[in-house]
Amino acid sequence: MTAPTHPVGPGYARSARCAECARIKAAYYAAWRAGDRATAVSLTAEMGRHQRTAHT
Ligand SMILES: [Zn+2]
Repeated sequence: MTAPTHPVGPGYARSARCAECARIKAAYYAAWRAGDRATAVSLTAEMGRHQRTAHT
């Protein structure tokens, strides 16, 4: 039982703020549930970039 229960990264603590947030978030959770950590990590980075560019 060492796996994280919830993969919270930068930008994931808040709920979706726009359609792009929702899209990235949905893709992120889908990838995480599928066990595709590489895609999940890349989506975390994508969400971080999106939030910096669209929500600051
Ligand atoms: Zn957004």
